[in-house]
Amino acid sequence: MNTNKTAVIALGGNAISPKGELDTIANQFRNTRKSCVAIMNFIKQGYHLAITHGNGPQVGNALLRVEMASDKAPRLPLGICDADTEGGMGYMIEQSLQNSLIQAQMDRDVVTIITQIIVDADDPSIQHPSKYIGGWYTKDEIARLAKKFGWQIKEIPGKGWRRVVPSPFPRKIINRKAIKHLVDLGIIVIAAGGGGIPVYIMENGLYEGFDAVIDKDLASSVLARDIGAQEFFILTDVDQIAINFGKANQEFIDTIRLDDLKALLGEGHFPAGSMGPKIQAAINFIENGGKTVIITSLETAQESLESGKYTRITP
Ligand code: ADP
Ligand code: MG
Repeated sequence: MNTNKTAVIALGGNAISPKGELDTIANQFRNTRKSCVAIMNFIKQGYHLAITHGNGPQVGNALLRVEMASDKAPRLPLGICDADTEGGMGYMIEQSLQNSLIQAQMDRDVVTIITQIIVDADDPSIQHPSKYIGGWYTKDEIARLAKKFGWQIKEIPGKGWRRVVPSPFPRKIINRKAIKHLVDLGIIVIAAGGGGIPVYIMENGLYEGFDAVIDKDLASSVLARDIGAQEFFILTDVDQIAINFGKANQEFIDTIRLDDLKALLGEGHFPAGSMGPKIQAAINFIENGGKTVIITSLETAQESLESGKYTRITP
């Protein structure tokens, strides 16, 4: 029987491509190697792990390549770009972690699983796509691209225009049993990268992909539930969450119970595009039997493991 603690670690964008830095592959590898320091602390403590990560900048670049090469090479739909970035980024994290393990003389396998996640065929976001994706355009530019590629588009007032796609709610990971077996054996699994690939079940019972993206924090929460993890670590670029974030009366939150967190979410302390999905992911995990969610930064993850400091969400 597996007596080790099982955790899911969700790496935020800053673990691989921090805001404001050029996302060259060399930079991404350098950041990933640095992020492995934090992950190694969990491994040294004996955790069994599944690791997830975002892919916003990477899938944005993939889409840009598709647009720019669209008259020369076959166009790739978003589901394929999701899968491609899961593979490419999985390779990068996998190899960086393997090298960290070699240096620490530790014998643990690391594997990447390209992860399809089932969503509802009638998810409301399909009729009302609102997740911004890819580049920024002027009204004229995007009108031309929308016609050429069949995009749905939306203005961000005062900032510009972008493509929007559905962001359906993740229900179930198709490969959950395989991932759980591997994690229970102590194999470190990189899965649900970029939120995984959304698929729905057709009337004939078969799977089908479509142009959409799943939020990576919500996907991580489903993965954590599906593999029976006790702990869920959301590692982002702030040490802890706050109420009145960024305002003069900002207050950081240490330990908080589920009901209190739900109340704060209702009061609007956690915006939709950033902290909101992490809080919702935390709530979903605890409501499905999870024991603890930690929201902190890569730098403070170790301290949080040892002292219980930083934001810790409990039932
Ligand atoms: P990630 O790439 O890790 O998903 P996001 O940018 O999506 O990162 O979310 C983290 C960001 O959320 C932080 O950098 C912070 O600016 C923002 N944020 C919004 N509201 C809060 C809050 N109440 N407490 C802490 N951070 C918040
Ligand atoms: Mg985010």
